[in-house]
Amino acid sequence: MFGKKPSLAEAQARMVEKQLAARYITDPRVLQVMAELPRHAFVAEELWGQAYKDTPLPIGYGQTISQPYMVAFMTQALQLSADGQATVLEIGTGSGYQAAILSRMAAKVYSIERIPELAEQARQNLDALGIDNVEIKVADGGYGWPEHAPYDGIVVTAAAPEVPAPLPAQLAEGAMLVIPTGPRRQQELLRLQRRGDRIIEERLAPVAFVPLIGEHGWEEDEY
Ligand code: SAM
Repeated sequence: MFGKKPSLAEAQARMVEKQLAARYITDPRVLQVMAELPRHAFVAEELWGQAYKDTPLPIGYGQTISQPYMVAFMTQALQLSADGQATVLEIGTGSGYQAAILSRMAAKVYSIERIPELAEQARQNLDALGIDNVEIKVADGGYGWPEHAPYDGIVVTAAAPEVPAPLPAQLAEGAMLVIPTGPRRQQELLRLQRRGDRIIEERLAPVAFVPLIGEHGWEEDEY
């Protein structure tokens, strides 16, 4: 009657099975990396018991680590090459969890965070796991990181009213940009793909993300 509390490892395995595999996360690399990398290592210790629940969690400064399903869905949507040689840009480092997942599927991850304390915490979280192919900078990610472009994938983990103009310009041929856009409280997850001079846009799902703050996003006091 009083079931034993599942260990973190058991909770993580269950998360992959019930929240990801059962909901059409089919890319075996995504499922494997999410089964291996500990999400609890990216939240405060008092939240470890909730780390494998189907929900975003607070990481301080009014920000969140995204729901595991959303991390898996956005990663899968990038369709990174199977050879592991991709260069990826993430905007909105937060806890560093999404960057860590990407780091196992790509050769190099560049990640931009606007809040210096979160960037520092993310660096520590990644270092603790021995992840050394993620470079973080503190900046307004709405401009992208043109010095390292073109990218084989760009993922934006905060919502902008519209796609920031500098980002599609930093995509390599055939590469995808995955980004939530739309009004403050409810957005649509878009996927844009560069095909020659054209950008093909697809709507993937309704979502709700924290705002992208800055020149290409929202003003800080608008939310
Ligand atoms: N990917 C993160 C993770 O795995 O923990 C979750 C990110 S959280 C949903 C969104 C992040 O975007 C916040 O940390 C926020 O500070 C950051 N952010 C908001 N506007 C930004 C901007 N213009 N440039 C860079 N980061 C921004």
